[in-house]
This record gives sequence, structure tokens and C-alpha cells, in this order.
Amino acid sequence: MATVRHHIVIGSGVAGNQAAETLRERDPESRVTIITLSRLPFFNRYDLPRVFRGERDWRNFIIYPAEYYRKNRIALRRATRVVNVDSTAQTLTLEHKEILHFDSLLVASGAGPYLPEELSEFRPLLHGFGAFRDAIEVADALPKNGHAILLGGDTIGLDLARTLLDIGHRVTLVAGPYTFWPHEVAAEDRSKYVAALERMGIVVVDANQRGCLTTIEKGAKGLSARRVVFGDGSDISGDVVMPFFGVAPSLDFMLGSGVDIERGLLVSPDLRTTNPNIYAAGDVCQIWTDREHRYCFYHGWKNVRAMGELAARNITGANEPWVPTQDESLQLTKDGKIHSPFWEYQ
Ligand SMILES: Cc1cc2nc3c(=O)[nH]c(=O)nc-3n(C[C@H](O)[C@H](O)[C@H](O)COP(=O)(O)OP(=O)(O)OC[C@H]3O[C@@H](n4cnc5c(N)ncnc54)[C@H](O)[C@@H]3O)c2cc1C
Repeated sequence: MATVRHHIVIGSGVAGNQAAETLRERDPESRVTIITLSRLPFFNRYDLPRVFRGERDWRNFIIYPAEYYRKNRIALRRATRVVNVDSTAQTLTLEHKEILHFDSLLVASGAGPYLPEELSEFRPLLHGFGAFRDAIEVADALPKNGHAILLGGDTIGLDLARTLLDIGHRVTLVAGPYTFWPHEVAAEDRSKYVAALERMGIVVVDANQRGCLTTIEKGAKGLSARRVVFGDGSDISGDVVMPFFGVAPSLDFMLGSGVDIERGLLVSPDLRTTNPNIYAAGDVCQIWTDREHRYCFYHGWKNVRAMGELAARNITGANEPWVPTQDESLQLTKDGKIHSPFWEYQ
């Protein structure tokens, strides 16, 4: 009797869910398991700004109901952490010591918010935006017509800024090298895009011109909750301070696995790592690009979903190369605002 293949997917984001769906379609007899740290089923993070408009029910962010996983025979293991992968034994270890065997492993563990080292001491005073719970906390901390100070200004933060302004909050951006990340903006174009942010209603402060950010403090009693202080002695007070410095791949559990890693998991154009049974897709991987002769990250919902699908196709016998599906250029709209293709999803 032929043995049933076990495909394990680490990660229940866009990449992992798309991969599981494609694995199920192309290998109907197999076992498919998704493992995720998250307590919530797959939900739409791109839609999290809606929390600030008063949408507080997590069920309205869920993309697939529990029934979807049952119907498709995809075992979804939530609140479960993978701590180690042994590529030779083809096993992975969960935090509670259980060991699972895989025939194929897809690592789609995404990336978490990156915080520059010099800001890490201020972490307790910062509000995150990576999870549903974070969004609720920061929305609760912002009073009506409140003032949000955004540090860095990647496209996730700039997207949130649009919503905050729209509902009557003030937004100050402390700009620096991560502003517009992951878009690469040429130095000569930067002022044009910064002017567009100002037209959108964002107050833009250049951290360098103020002698860099030196301290973040709790505001004194009766004043705004936070104070950001710069090297030239100037300061800005606000209700919340939120870091937006791009993301860093979540791959600690792969460090002893023997597969090659630079900043992300390194994969060939077919999304295979340096181990033939282990693939990677989504924010966690860097894909070899012949044209640029280096490993590149590709971001955005459409790219990430296409990676999940491609990895699953190649795991199940195809041999197709990665072709990016997303326009990555930062745009200016007719009314002089910025538009990022990364804000489009589905
Ligand atoms: C608030 C927010 C808004 C965003 N808005 C945009 C936007 O407008 N445009 C845009 O282009 N991008 C946006 N992004 C980025 C976007 O979410 C990512 O590019 C995309 O979700 C990446 O998908 P992924 O499947 O690679 O990983 P993720 O969606 O990050 O999923 C990773 C999965 O891996 C699991 N995982 C990680 N480590 C482990 C472990 N050790 N054990 C078990 N499971 C693990 C996690 O629990 C999670 O299920 C946003 C991100 C956030 C946080």
C-alpha cells in the first residue's frame, strides 16, 4: 500500500493558506497540516485599519471559517510554535516537545515588525500594529481627534496614516531611511514624495535635521501620553508612538536546520531551499534572481499569494520558476498623493 505523503506548512498567512489550498487540490490523498502561532484563524491584516473605524469583532476579519479547513481536510494547528526543524530526519519539533514527520515542508512563517536596536529600550512605550490585539490596544489609546506619532514610515504605517487622518486624528511622521519601505525611492525623487505626504495631511519631521531621535518618554500627568525628544532639544508630544521600520523574517526555528539563510531563507527560483524537501514562500524567503544576480525579497499580498501557490505546485511535481506578479513602484496620484500598489490586495 502506498504511504500517504504528509505536507506540513508552517504559517497561516496568505502564503501558507494559498499553499495548503493548492496542495489539497493537486495531491488529494495527502495529509496537509498548517501550523501557526496565531490563536486566530487566517485573518486579513491589510484590513486592520478598520479597527480604528470601530470594527472590533475579529470574526469580521476572518478569511476562511473553521468549516473551510474541515471540508478541505486541512489540519489547522493554532497557538502552536515550531521550535526546531531537522532537515535530515525530516522532522520538526513543537514547543510542547511533540515531533512531527514531514515528506515536504513549506516554511511560510512570514516576518515580524522590525525595530532598530537603538529604539529597543523604548519598546514598552511604543504601540505595535502587527496583530489584531495590537490594533485594538492602540485604537483604545488614541482619544477622539488624537495625535499619532509614526516613526520610520513604511508603507504599512503610511496606509494606517491615511485612515487616521480620514477619521479626524493628527499624524506626525518622523521620517528617515525606512520612509516608503519597501519601495526604493531615488534620492532625487524623495522630496517629491515627502511633499505628497504633506499634501495628504501628514506633518513630516526629518529625524536627521533634528539631530536624530534621542528619547521617548511618558508625558507628564495631564499632558499628552508620549513625548519624543530629538538631539537638537526639540520635541513632539502625542498620544501614541508607533514604529514602522519594515519587517524582519521570522525564522529562528530554522537556524539549526542546515538550510542556507542570509536575512531570509534562501531559495532557488522554484522556491526550494538548499534542502530538496524544504520550500519557503512569502515574507520569510529571499528568491534567487538571475537578472540581478542576488537573492531578493518580494512583498505584497499578490506576490505572497503567488509564492504560496508556486511552492505548492513545485512540491507536487511542477518545475516552474518564480515570476513576480506585483508592480513595486511608488506612484503619485492625479491629486498629488502617494499610492502604493502594496495597498491593493485580493
Ligand atoms: C498590520 C499590517 C498591515 C499590513 N498591510 C500591508 C499592506 O497594506 N500591504 C502590504 O503589501 N503588506 C502589508 N502587510 C504585510 C503583509 O501582511 C505581509 O506581506 C504578508 O502578510 C506576508 O504573508 P506571509 O504569508 O508570508 O506571512 P504572515 O502573514 O506574516 O504569516 C506568518 C505565519 O507564520 C506563523 N509563524 C511564524 N513563526 C512561527 C513559528 N515559529 N511556529 C508556528 N508558526 C509560526 C505566524 O503565526 C503566521 O501564521 C501588513 C502587515 C501588517 C502586520
